[in-house]
Amino acid sequence: MESKAESLSIIVPCYNEEENIQKFYETLINQNDDIKKLDYEIIFVDDGSKDSSILEVKKLQKIDSKVRLIKFSRNFGKESAMLAGLKASKKNLVTIMDCDLQDPPSLLFEMLKIYEENNGKIKMIIAKRKNRAGESKIRAYLSNLFYRLNNAISKVRLVSGVRDFRLMSREVVESIIQMNEYHRFSKAIFEFVGYEKRYLEYEYISRTQGVSKWSFMNLFSYGIEGIISFSTAPLKIITIIGFLIFLISSIYGFYIIISTLIFGNPVKGYPSTIVLISFFGGLQIIMLGIIGEYIARIYEQGKNRPHYFIEYED
Ligand code: UDP
Ligand code: MG
Repeated sequence: MESKAESLSIIVPCYNEEENIQKFYETLINQNDDIKKLDYEIIFVDDGSKDSSILEVKKLQKIDSKVRLIKFSRNFGKESAMLAGLKASKKNLVTIMDCDLQDPPSLLFEMLKIYEENNGKIKMIIAKRKNRAGESKIRAYLSNLFYRLNNAISKVRLVSGVRDFRLMSREVVESIIQMNEYHRFSKAIFEFVGYEKRYLEYEYISRTQGVSKWSFMNLFSYGIEGIISFSTAPLKIITIIGFLIFLISSIYGFYIIISTLIFGNPVKGYPSTIVLISFFGGLQIIMLGIIGEYIARIYEQGKNRPHYFIEYED
């Protein structure tokens, strides 16, 4: 017998999405009559929007009692919004969708079909973009570089182009919630929990309304976050570099002593001194920086602060 995907929580993190909320809802509801057969709930998590996003969600609540709202006390970031949504979700299937319609609802119904066809054996069905169209060449290049670097040094393999948009069964959601790290890097958390997965490729769609909340610096620190959260390899690399340099400078020191003994000391060496000092100075600062990143995370985790504060829930 086919297991029916009869109940579904749709989590939608929103940050300044007033132009998109109505459109998102309409597209989702009118996309496919199947949704009306589902026991669904739509949880809008307002991540401290400064525009009228809240009002837009409240308008929807007047026409659809299945629309829920979680309002954060301020902006905590999409990771926190997703976590709050997952914790609040009550149905046996859960999906996370962006508000800007970059995660097409049609794909959601394909995911549900795959889930049913496999009798619920595939616990996570993940949207994966086919290409990086609509992204600048530099951003695409840096993204790919990040994935290559991460997969070379981290035990948790990441797949390029994978989105937060996915269908998850209850077991998966419960596992994700148990991951209690303060710095959340969902892409890796989703992989870390395991379970049977399937990737569903689709043509990437550009955002139509509003602007992406990602700046270059954001993406850069997100990349560092990803590597540091799931790998201690950078610390190991530091140690190896340290040993190598120690070895090289020992050989060099030995060579200096010997050559001074044989040829005397003609007091040159100013350039090499400066080069060495600046080289090691730079190296040490980089290494301290890397160690600092790890210490910062221990510090943040040690404070054990909540990921977000909910002002109210409706
Ligand atoms: N978002 C959020 N909090 C933030 C930034 C973004 O909840 O601090 C939401 C945003 O409203 C959207 C989703 O996360 O629904 C993805 O954001 P965005 O479109 O800016 O990212 P991109 O699609 O460029 O990766
Ligand atoms: Mg977007």
